[in-house]
Amino acid sequence: MKTVSTLKEIRALVDRWHRNGKTVGLVPTMGALHEGHLHLVRAARQACDRVVVSLFVNPTQFSAGEDFAKYPRDLKKDTRLVAAEKADVIFAPTAEEMYPAGFDTSVTVGPALTQTMCGLSRPNHFQGVATVVMKLLNLMRPQQAFFGQKDYQQTLVVKRIAADLNTGCDIVVLPTVREADGLAKSSRNAYLSEEERRLAPSVYQALKLADGILQVGERNPKELLDAVRKRLKTESKIEIEYVAAKNAETLEDLLILSGRVLVAVAVKLGSTRLIDNIVVDVPTGS
Ligand code: AMP
Repeated sequence: MKTVSTLKEIRALVDRWHRNGKTVGLVPTMGALHEGHLHLVRAARQACDRVVVSLFVNPTQFSAGEDFAKYPRDLKKDTRLVAAEKADVIFAPTAEEMYPAGFDTSVTVGPALTQTMCGLSRPNHFQGVATVVMKLLNLMRPQQAFFGQKDYQQTLVVKRIAADLNTGCDIVVLPTVREADGLAKSSRNAYLSEEERRLAPSVYQALKLADGILQVGERNPKELLDAVRKRLKTESKIEIEYVAAKNAETLEDLLILSGRVLVAVAVKLGSTRLIDNIVVDVPTGS
C-alpha cells in the first residue's frame, strides 16, 4: 500500500484508475483511526475497485480555542491499520499542500443544515468540512465516499454539496460503531480521564431512553427532550451543549414526533466534547 502526500501524486494515481475503468471509493478521515473508521474502509473495499483513505487534520474545520493542536496524530499506526484493510493508498497531505498561499475559496451550505446543533457552537465548522470534502471529491472524483452516522449533521452537509455541486459521487453513510458499553467510538475518547470514560456511556443511555420513549408512543418533542436532559443531568460532570429532536432529512424542528426522527446530543465531559445520535422511524399518525 502506498502513502502519498501531494496533490500531483494522488491525482496521477487516481486518474490512471479512472482511465482503466476502475471504480474509486474515498474514506475521508482526520486519522487517529479506530474501529469506526475501519468499518468505513471495509465497506469501501467491498464496494469499489480502488480505495483511498485520506488522513488530514483539517485546520479550517476547527474553531478558535478548539483542539486542533492537540488532536491525536499517529501516521505510523494509521498506516498499519489501513494496510491491514487492504486499502490501495493513503493520502496524507500537509496543510500547506491543501491550502497553499493565496487559497481563498470556501463552500458554504445554507443555514438550515449548518446554523443549528453543532453549527451553533462551532462557527465555520461546516464551512471547513464542506470545503475540504469538496476539494477531495474534485481531486479524486470517487464514485462513492464513505461517512459515519456518528457525525450525522456532517453527513447531511456532505450529501447536500455532493448533490448541489454535481459531483456524481454517491455518499454512503454507515452506522455508528460503539464500544461494548455503548459509547460511540471517537478519536477524542482518548482525551477522557478514567472517571470521565466511566461516565461517557450515559450519552448513549440517554439516547436509548429516547428510543424507548418513542417506542411507547410519546409524540411530544418537549416531553422527549426533557426526559433526555433529565437523564444526562443525573451525572453532574456532564455539561449539556444541546439535545435535539429533528426531522432527520432537513433538521427542521418537529411539532409532532413522526417520520424519520433524529435525536442528537452534544455534551462536554471535562474539556472533551462528545456527540452522538440515533435515528428512529416513528410511524406517522400513530
Ligand atoms: P473523523 O476522523 O473523526 O473526522 O471521522 C472520519 C469519518 O469516520 C467520518 O465520516 C466519521 O463520521 C466516521 N466515524 C467516526 N467515528 C465513527 C464511529 N464510531 N462509527 C462510524 N463512523 C465513525
